Amino acid sequence: MSVPFLSAGEVNARHADELKAAAARVIDSGWYILGEEVAAFEREFAAYCGVRHVVGVGNGFDALSLILRGYKQLGALREGDEVIVPGNTFIASFLAITENRLVPVPVEPDPTTFNLDPMRVEDAIGPRTRAIMAVHLYGQLADMPALSALARQHKLLLIEDAAQAHGAVGSGRKAGAWGDAAGFSFFPTKNLGALGDGGAVVTDDDALARCIAALRNYGSEVKYHYPYQGINSRLDEMQAAMLRVKLKYLDEDIARRREVARRYREGIHHWNILLPTVIHEEGHVWHLFVVRSDRRDELHLHLESHGIQSQVHYPLPPHFQPAYPSLHDIRLPLTERLHREVLSLPMGPTMDAQAVAQVVQACETFGGAR
Ligand SMILES: *Cc1c(COP(=O)(O)O)cnc(C)c1O
Repeated sequence: MSVPFLSAGEVNARHADELKAAAARVIDSGWYILGEEVAAFEREFAAYCGVRHVVGVGNGFDALSLILRGYKQLGALREGDEVIVPGNTFIASFLAITENRLVPVPVEPDPTTFNLDPMRVEDAIGPRTRAIMAVHLYGQLADMPALSALARQHKLLLIEDAAQAHGAVGSGRKAGAWGDAAGFSFFPTKNLGALGDGGAVVTDDDALARCIAALRNYGSEVKYHYPYQGINSRLDEMQAAMLRVKLKYLDEDIARRREVARRYREGIHHWNILLPTVIHEEGHVWHLFVVRSDRRDELHLHLESHGIQSQVHYPLPPHFQPAYPSLHDIRLPLTERLHREVLSLPMGPTMDAQAVAQVVQACETFGGAR
């Protein structure tokens, strides 16, 4: 049997009846943009995260970008300000910064957790630093107590890229409830996925929430009156309705992912495969199960020959992408090494014990030592 990396179709098939009923409700309502479904999802997701405000937007990138745009609008950020960001993140974290004419300052991660290393963040803080963007990579919270302390001490904004961390917990608080604001993505393969694009800004900052609620809708607070130059990035009523169904099952899905991770961690013992380090044993939501190997490409091919799909998150760091020629001189040896060594094993809430056993077995039969 072949093992897919993740099947979004299988994930949604479990709730097909409920999703279709929700879609029918939206179709019959005759109201498709910024209505009751979005408002209800915003309330429900705010309660889930433990924050005061959620603003539904078009996608995860826009969520991050609108947070920065909102803070510029409110005077907390200015063009040219520096934002500290992990070097080993999905390019959207960088793009949200540069889109706003801010300057990304990439920092090396802790190579065991893949998340920002607070000591290195502190070293990177300079006179133009105004914000830290922490990314909860692969579903585990970054060291938020340490990063919060740094942000307070240096009067910096702390923004969370929580696109991979819906429901993740650390030190008793959920992703999204640590920073000044956080951006979530509901891309279909995320832990909380819509059936299309979707995203949200979550925050306890009343002024920011109000500003972003306007910015996502052309900058309008009252119809045809525009205090801000906004954009069009709204969460659809249809996607909000899908997300309200899926939010009910998020904790159950996280539990299933944890069970897959538990079996991987118990079963895989190979001298060329380094298992992920878990800091928050109860709080990791396992968006991805990422191992490291100095023979990564061979391992990928080995798994493929056993019918198992694995992926690389990510093959080339943002500072080496052709899109960022100005960053090509930066050297981040740890980050660059991680990009050569990481491999994501199949992971998802619909993976059964047999598929997991097949992956474990294939890892155990990976070739001998060199
Ligand atoms: C998926 C993702 C995003 C972007 O989300 P989209 O909804 O695809 O725009 C941003 N940051 C990280 C870390 C992500 O994984």
